[in-house]
Amino acid sequence: MRPSSIDPAVRLRWREVLHSAGIKCTEQRLAVLCELEHAVEPVSHREMLARLADYHWDPATIFRNLNDLCDVGLVRRIDVGDHVWRFELRSSEAERAEHPHFLCVQCGTITCLHEVAMNEALGPLRTSQPTLAVEEVLLKGKCPTCHRPA
Ligand SMILES: [Zn+2]
Ligand SMILES: [Zn+2]
Repeated sequence: MRPSSIDPAVRLRWREVLHSAGIKCTEQRLAVLCELEHAVEPVSHREMLARLADYHWDPATIFRNLNDLCDVGLVRRIDVGDHVWRFELRSSEAERAEHPHFLCVQCGTITCLHEVAMNEALGPLRTSQPTLAVEEVLLKGKCPTCHRPA
């Protein structure tokens, strides 16, 4: 997607979101947010570079912008244990909107379990250990493709 191809209404909406988060609205941040909005799964830095290849931006700049967006709470960083940060838009709604992730141990696919709320997923743990600040719930197993019996 070229910078000019971002819809003016979308541009305006993200500009307001960035301003209320207290950071400047830059072309890089706009492009990153638009890509994350269209992604169905968390996006790694490498995948983000591929998506934004048309812009010819410096990889370090993109990485810095992803982290800036995390710092102000607009984007969530996920590490499923493979030492690769993946990024996704953080829901602006209540904490309930945060969701666990499922990692396929065979093909490495990550699925957002949008239909499971974090509170639900933690259930009894949260009541017995109310002081725990859980930031990530990760389930591991096999995705439907890998789970098929041979
Ligand atoms: Zn799989
Ligand atoms: Zn997710």
